[in-house]
Amino acid sequence: MQPFVYEPLPARVIFGAGTLARLGDEVERLGLKRVLVLATPAQRGEAERLAASLGEHAAGVFAGAVMHTPVEVTEHAMAEVAALGVDGVVAVGGGSTIGLCKAIALRCDLPQIVVPTTYAGSEMTPILGETRDGLKTTQRSPKILPETVIYDVELTLTLPPQLSATSGINAIAHAVEALYAPDGNPIVSLMAEEGIGALARALPVIMREPSQSQARSDALYGAWLCGACLGAVGMALHHKLCHALGGAFDLPHAETHAVILPHAIAYNAASAPEAMNRIARALGADEAAKGVHDLARRLGAPHALRDLGMPESGIEQAAEIATRNPYPNPRPIERGAIRSLIARAWAGEAPQG
Ligand code: NAD
Repeated sequence: MQPFVYEPLPARVIFGAGTLARLGDEVERLGLKRVLVLATPAQRGEAERLAASLGEHAAGVFAGAVMHTPVEVTEHAMAEVAALGVDGVVAVGGGSTIGLCKAIALRCDLPQIVVPTTYAGSEMTPILGETRDGLKTTQRSPKILPETVIYDVELTLTLPPQLSATSGINAIAHAVEALYAPDGNPIVSLMAEEGIGALARALPVIMREPSQSQARSDALYGAWLCGACLGAVGMALHHKLCHALGGAFDLPHAETHAVILPHAIAYNAASAPEAMNRIARALGADEAAKGVHDLARRLGAPHALRDLGMPESGIEQAAEIATRNPYPNPRPIERGAIRSLIARAWAGEAPQG
């Protein structure tokens, strides 16, 4: 076995169907008296129900979260935090709402209780990506990591099948890159393989039957494990590509992950054989890149960057950004090969190593 360092992150995780009922106890456990409940405009109703359930412990609702955590939105929310004199934040939603919650905590270190409703995994990481003047930058801080995470399977039943598919592949991407991370370790690898398997088995069932509670439970369990991988070890080419593409062409987050993942795996396949075996085994496939490609096709996930709104003229620019300051990666980053990868992903072609 390779030498390793293992440093788990402090997290309190409450998992199960109906666990949102424990929110009041968790607010009290943290000694909070006046929390601000955060959501996107689309999930305002959920946030209002949740605030009502907290009674006098809820100071208000801020339902203005949007994707990529723009600083202007955070400043608006910070004004509410100050005006209402809140002493904690509660986020109900996906990575966009959780991003806002983390951005507030980074600024004033308020305790966070997070109730995830997608599979993006942000709740398990001390990482925050923020956008200022169209530029997204990422930082890590212990202040960013939520204190308590409540995974309530029932809240994921309304996640539309298409978003479940892309969000689930987004989660799988965290585990894939954890399996070949230079700072990886045996515990994280166990979580990664288990997380990929749980999602790969559950997502096809969810596509057929979106409210099948066992599949929803398995998918959320997988998403938790994959999010924990993202928080624990460094990410590589796949995340760098998605970050570069999302930032440069304002592409949707989960969909971009779904398109790029098979291509990034194929690029790294020959340089990370042990990781590839584990990914393939978790998928029940013969080969890792093809296994993810086939899963994404089966789920009807988007497979071409051009369908997400990226112009063909952007391929060169994307290759330039993606190869600038690359993250550590099993296979060296070669500009020509990365350009070909992006061109294939743009056109929706099959992955190629
Ligand atoms: P999202 O949070 O933007 O959600 C997409 C849409 O689905 C929103 O309108 C939301 O209100 C709606 N929605 C969410 N859950 C729902 C449900 N159960 N039922 C019905 N509608 C629901 O999407 P996302 O993919 O979860 O998050 C993307 C953002 O998260 C990006 O900004 C990304 O950078 C960030 N992210 C950060 C990290 C990190 O560690 N910092 C990790 C993953 C993602």
